Amino acid sequence: MSEDWAPRTRLVHSGTRRSQYGETSEAIFLTQGFVYPSAEVAEARFVESGPDEFIYARYGNPTVRMFEERIAALEGAEDAFATASGMAAVHGALFSALKTGDHVVAAKALFGSCLYIVETLLPRFGVEVSFVDGTDLDQWRAAIRPDTRLVFLESISNPTLEVIDIAAVAAIARESGALTVVDNVFGTPIFQRCFDLGADVVVYSATKHIDGQGRCLGGVVLGSKTFIRKTLEPFLKHTGGALSPFSAWVMLKGLETLDLRCRAAAAAAQRLAEAVSDHPALAQVLYPGLDAHPQAALARRQMETGGTVLSLDLAGGKAAAFRFLNALRIVQISNNLGDAKSLVTHPATTTHQRLTPEQRQALGIGDGLVRLSLGLEDPADLIADVRQALDAA
Ligand SMILES: *Cc1c(COP(=O)(O)O)cnc(C)c1O
Repeated sequence: MSEDWAPRTRLVHSGTRRSQYGETSEAIFLTQGFVYPSAEVAEARFVESGPDEFIYARYGNPTVRMFEERIAALEGAEDAFATASGMAAVHGALFSALKTGDHVVAAKALFGSCLYIVETLLPRFGVEVSFVDGTDLDQWRAAIRPDTRLVFLESISNPTLEVIDIAAVAAIARESGALTVVDNVFGTPIFQRCFDLGADVVVYSATKHIDGQGRCLGGVVLGSKTFIRKTLEPFLKHTGGALSPFSAWVMLKGLETLDLRCRAAAAAAQRLAEAVSDHPALAQVLYPGLDAHPQAALARRQMETGGTVLSLDLAGGKAAAFRFLNALRIVQISNNLGDAKSLVTHPATTTHQRLTPEQRQALGIGDGLVRLSLGLEDPADLIADVRQALDAA
């Protein structure tokens, strides 16, 4: 059944577990533990738990399971494990799969906390990491070795929105038997089908588009049944990164509207990118949906839209960027993204502040760069707001 359904139908119905009351909307099972009708049942459950049998919420919970099954159905993944945040998902996926002596290749343009795990934590445990420019396939080919166990990348990089060729990188990784792990937050589960492109493991911060209304932290790791149950689950269930049943319910309900929300935000991003691309205050508009994007053809092949985030490079540097941020009336200043509210951030002074100017330069993060996450407001209002703020800049 569920395999025949289109994504929007899966997002509404897959994974539903109805209680004896026949509720329409999924229940929140806000319970830590579960009771057993007899000592024999308790014993049997610790030997092996069936699909509707739970032991403790750190291991699993019916509401959390609904969220995991629904997103797995959307992605076409065999299984999923939900986590307390996107970083618990990234940490779990990497640390459960790696051990001392392994080699990892990672794209160098990574979300700040992902970079900390890969650059600082993994080497502390004897994992060697090589960084590459993710858009340069020759660098991937040169860096991957016979002992490379895993490659890690963000499909669209933050905040410069470079597109990495997932299919090509996954094919190179597979030749050495390395796992390809993709953080697909910017691509979204709607627009970029990482498993079809050859990824082995996909991670999300559900905090972003999946909640989509700025309420709860959450994350999820998706992959084969073997990876999720044999590699990841033992690590996560004993290290405590479990998602709260309440947050799982928020994410589960978020999935019902995910497709509609992502499409609305991406349409607004496309319109805005086109509407402001010749504004005199701008040195550049970075958006994978624009023909002018350096990887427009790859973006079109790999993603259904240009995504919900765009970056603007203001010609007047930091002063112009700050004037722009402060003049915006609808778009709010925040380092977050994937919200119903449109949000703007100045990476050089916030999310990427701890990098040196040289490191920022190498990542293409200039003082005039601002990142805009499109929300669900009327696109015409957003365009007018961004235009007046650019005029003020
Ligand atoms: C936000 C984000 C994360 C971390 O997610 P949290 O839910 O904040 O822990 C990881 N990767 C990317 C690309 C993100 O945007």
